[in-house]
Amino acid sequence: MAQILDGKKVAQELKDAIGEQVKTMDTKPGLAVVIVGDDPASHVYVNSKEKACAAAGFYSEKVELPAETTQEELIAVVDRLNADEKIHGILVQLPLPKNLNEEEVLLRINPAKDVDGFHPYNMGLLLGNKGALSDSLLVPCTPKGIMKLLAKTGIELKGKKAVIVGRSNLVGKPIALLLLYADASPMICHSRTTDLESQCREADILVAAVGRPKMVKADWVKEGAIVIDVGINRTDEGLVGDVDYEAVEPKAAWITPVPGGVGPMTIACLLENTLIAMRNQS
Ligand code: NDP
Repeated sequence: MAQILDGKKVAQELKDAIGEQVKTMDTKPGLAVVIVGDDPASHVYVNSKEKACAAAGFYSEKVELPAETTQEELIAVVDRLNADEKIHGILVQLPLPKNLNEEEVLLRINPAKDVDGFHPYNMGLLLGNKGALSDSLLVPCTPKGIMKLLAKTGIELKGKKAVIVGRSNLVGKPIALLLLYADASPMICHSRTTDLESQCREADILVAAVGRPKMVKADWVKEGAIVIDVGINRTDEGLVGDVDYEAVEPKAAWITPVPGGVGPMTIACLLENTLIAMRNQS
């Protein structure tokens, strides 16, 4: 039976520690979250981020824009937030409506305020910086949160084979780098990988970041593996991950639940990144 990697609890500890730091600060860390359109899932995420900011004593600003917002209007909002001294971190909730150019918007965010770590400048630093987690870099929140959960297992990552299913800039690519820096040997799989199941079966650490409900079955998982389920899928049974949790749990040594695993860590790391951004700007 697996031990549960309780992201909710670990995230709460991190948020509490951040809140304690903030209490001692004269200037509060400021986070702006920009949301365009009415995608219900995006609104749920943004509301959770706002709540977490308030609980930790941050200054926060939610900018809600209608779906018909033009590229120029959105860029003007980003420019305003770039210039606002109360705002240390800017997050534009993705995905944006199809008529908007996501890349241009992300490029426009001042890299010093890019708390998602998606700006090519921050991505570049991550690519070149082995000390990514120990210094002042803005590392994408979800992979950062996964590394904190892995640390909680107490298991040495050095020499472990890690298989990551999914190659997005958001999760798959950065978590591969962070695992590499921890001296694991990552392999990134995707929709064109041949014999995905066999690749997964070799993994000491298996990260599923696909967006397909319960795709990873028990016979894809090595006995004693650490299984990290990043997926968030809304189904008739409610929220489920990319891993068939009930079937996989007895085989794994450690596993993250959905909900309550990686998701809360992402939000806690967003607060941590906002603090880092504030320090970098002072
Ligand atoms: P993307 O859609 O950007 O990427 C999905 C990846 O999965 C792609 O690389 C794709 O391959 C791969 N893939 C799709 N189908 C298959 C398949 N049948 N076999 C193997 N690989 C496949 O998703 P994200 O990385 O943004 O997100 C992944 C999941 O994680 C989603 O459920 C999302 O909601 C969730 N998520 C959760 C977060 C959290 O905080 N818990 C944060 C961010 C995301 P290819 O590149 O070849 O198309």
